[in-house]
Amino acid sequence: MAETRKVVILGSGAAGLTAAVYAARANLEPLLFEGHQPGGQLTITTEVENYPGFAEAIMGPDLMARMRAQAARFGTEIVTAEVESVNLKVHPFEICAEGKRYLAQTVIIATGAKAKLLGLKSEAKLMGHGVSACATCDGYFFKNMRIAVVGGGDTAMEEATFLTKFASHVTVLHRRDELRASKIMQERAKANPKISFQWNVEVEEVLGNEHVTGVKLLDVKTGKTSTMDVEGLFIGIGHMPNTKLFEGQVELHANGYVRTFTGTRTSIPGVFAAGDVQDSVYRQAVTAAGSGCMAALDAERYLEELKHPSHALPPAVEGARSR
Ligand code: NDP
Repeated sequence: MAETRKVVILGSGAAGLTAAVYAARANLEPLLFEGHQPGGQLTITTEVENYPGFAEAIMGPDLMARMRAQAARFGTEIVTAEVESVNLKVHPFEICAEGKRYLAQTVIIATGAKAKLLGLKSEAKLMGHGVSACATCDGYFFKNMRIAVVGGGDTAMEEATFLTKFASHVTVLHRRDELRASKIMQERAKANPKISFQWNVEVEEVLGNEHVTGVKLLDVKTGKTSTMDVEGLFIGIGHMPNTKLFEGQVELHANGYVRTFTGTRTSIPGVFAAGDVQDSVYRQAVTAAGSGCMAALDAERYLEELKHPSHALPPAVEGARSR
């Protein structure tokens, strides 16, 4: 019979590891699944300059290694295994990973999200060398350079507009001749003198050996190909939350993100969600870490409620205190 853990955390990005630090320091002996690509999205960025506390930039993988060490230092048990299934319809909750069954009184979902990519070989090769899917992370490195942004939705408009702070020029590459973005975001981008649009094009190949030097474009109307010289290519075609495991169990928004109610509570009592898996708007390391802290405090509150069901406790958010 598997031992029932007080807190099981799914995911090892900024949200999951911060939840682990707080849960471990509250003596909840958390068990954290980090999967086979530990550290989450920050491990695919280069320098992180907007995480408070680092006056000098810190490399994304370094930041995540430090968070992991901090979580381990307070006694988090970290399991490197892919979670294959969860059953949140029974209590204690069941988690299966690599053939082994685990039981949990509370579960913190911190499985994150991933940027959608085009799926080109050349895109993968030059990722981090001129190709990026995060303007707030990497825009700064493209001062006075020419950049192309792929996509026609709000993400692409937001990234293109943000990138004009650094770039000499930004070209939006869209596969149709009509944007999907909201009117206000479209208008803002169209009014920006540093942004131009190229319609009905798909990126066939990212050009460059060590670093991006251009893109090869296919005109989907004429079938003709052309090349465009750019030093940066930002993929702004949206994000996908990693919620496949939870479909049909926890309430999800129409866009697939986990729905949270007060604080980090989900539709299932005892299941909490933190970080990008429940946030399609902010998606920052610091906001993910903040919600990871909230999830641990909410889980701690919930466990107290289980122990003393007759005690009226203040809402989770009021229970937060500095440790
Ligand atoms: P969307 O799904 O709205 O748009 C994705 C865009 O990328 C579309 O224009 C789509 O083209 C294009 N696209 C998708 N796949 C490919 C591909 N393989 N190759 C080329 N182009 C592709 O995603 P967003 O991330 O832009 O927005 C998601 C949600 O988040 C929206 O509700 C949006 O409003 C919201 N959001 C809000 C922001 C804000 O308010 N500040 C900022 C960012 C997002 P096509 O149009 O042809 O399908």
